Amino acid sequence: MQLALEIIEYWTTCHWAIAFAIACIVNISVYVLTAKCLHLLIDYAVNTKSFGKFIDDRALKPKQTLREMTYGIVACCIFALGSIFSRMLFDGLWPETLSSLLIQVASFVVFYETYSYFVHRLLHTKYLSMFHGVHHSSVRVTPWSAYSVHPVEAIFIGFSAPVFMLLFSLSLSVALTLHIVGMMFTILLHSNYSHSSGPTLLKLPFSYAEYHSKHHFYGGVNYGFTHRFWDSVLGTYQRQSN
Ligand SMILES: [Zn+2]
Ligand SMILES: [Zn+2]
Repeated sequence: MQLALEIIEYWTTCHWAIAFAIACIVNISVYVLTAKCLHLLIDYAVNTKSFGKFIDDRALKPKQTLREMTYGIVACCIFALGSIFSRMLFDGLWPETLSSLLIQVASFVVFYETYSYFVHRLLHTKYLSMFHGVHHSSVRVTPWSAYSVHPVEAIFIGFSAPVFMLLFSLSLSVALTLHIVGMMFTILLHSNYSHSSGPTLLKLPFSYAEYHSKHHFYGGVNYGFTHRFWDSVLGTYQRQSN
């Protein structure tokens, strides 16, 4: 904990190029380690233990994983660039009170759910679909598909926190933690794994993967990130059972 504190404090004051390099290493590490671990775990569960199943079991496209990893690593570097702007805009390293922490987390989660839904709808318009096509070239998704996005789409994702910080107060530690948790959740969304039996605690996380796989399969449904709210309100929600 003390080491993490010292690293964050150093990161806020060092030269921006060093901060950018550190942020690249952290983003790429989170992406590669989470995607690799999830890929191995699911492969073991399905192929060795017959525990759960792939949502879509069609073959991957030729060189799909290599293409996804390449776009993913470029996207991580763009997220690192976004964090340099967060470094200029954050409001304190830590929230001063517990209520301040809860307000920051709740307001960012609501903001990001709304921001990502409408940005995603924009990316499906004829003006921006050529960029979003990179992500949708993964029809059968893998954990590596999570950040297989065009650099223009990566800018929308990576600059969400600086945009929020222009409007509301956000501590740097909250911003960094939510970013890393958000990356892991996005990778889970692309796990292509479902589990219909067993405890809810196990089924629930992967229900999000089914929800997002429908988006890759049909295109114009299930644009949301962590919640079905905007999909339900605006008529773009498709249930898992359909
Ligand atoms: Zn889409
Ligand atoms: Zn996706």
